[in-house]
Amino acid sequence: MNQLTEHELSELTRQIIAGLGEDPERDGLLKTPGRVARSLRFLTGGYHVDIDKLLNGALFSVCYDQMVIVKDIEFFSMCEHHMLPFFGKCHVAYVPNKQVIGLSKIPRLVDVFARRLQIQERLTQEIAGTIMEKIAPQGVGVVIEAQHLCMMMRGVEKQHSAAVTSAMLGTFRENKQTRDEFLSLVRSR
Ligand code: ZN
Repeated sequence: MNQLTEHELSELTRQIIAGLGEDPERDGLLKTPGRVARSLRFLTGGYHVDIDKLLNGALFSVCYDQMVIVKDIEFFSMCEHHMLPFFGKCHVAYVPNKQVIGLSKIPRLVDVFARRLQIQERLTQEIAGTIMEKIAPQGVGVVIEAQHLCMMMRGVEKQHSAAVTSAMLGTFRENKQTRDEFLSLVRSR
């Protein structure tokens, strides 16, 4: 990937502003290209995170084999079709085999994949697939409920519709009881 410098990225943003018929030289917009460039870098920072490094020191061996669930993880991502935000809540569960992940690392893992250009379906799969790969649990379940600004601000303009996606791997896919337990824990407030 050939990455632009912050200056080059600002210059492109300046061209977009001008191309939309605005005056990039007016007071309120003078510093906007630089801000947009830095904000885009932050919002797509997930491309540059080394997941093994992130989880380093946070994988523990245990005898525990009950469901671990972290729910209502807030996330903010950007849809790859319009580069507009989609955001909502992510619920992650797994049944350990021999290892668990430090609980605080799960929201961090969600951020890694959310801070990329995404579609909700892939975001869901990538979180589940990574946990499967890193600690080989008996199974993983991920449910994401999100609102998409590309739907809310333009096009269909459905203000309150939320898209729900799920990824069920291992025992969450094979065992209805495990899956139902997870889904009922997600639904309980
Ligand atoms: Zn979109």
